[in-house]
Amino acid sequence: MTKICTRCLLADFDRVKYEQLIGKSLNDLPPEDLTADDIRGKRLDICRECDKLNQGTCLACGCFVEIRAALVRGKCPYKKW
Ligand code: SF4
Repeated sequence: MTKICTRCLLADFDRVKYEQLIGKSLNDLPPEDLTADDIRGKRLDICRECDKLNQGTCLACGCFVEIRAALVRGKCPYKKW
């Protein structure tokens, strides 16, 4: 049974789907397009506190925040990071 959590990242409640949708996408990107782990982690900590986060997606842009936060060119649509 899949746990639902509106203020969670996808990895927090569905590890299988995370690997299928996000882990694979990030693995396919060139390393220079990806942020360092500490930057990604700080961004996602902000997302976890944001009322726009809904089950791993951002209600402001519709993206998976774990992908957006991992990209060097990724930006929060509300300029929180
Ligand atoms: S990307 Fe920005 S607006 Fe979207 S959930 Fe994260 S902090 Fe909130």
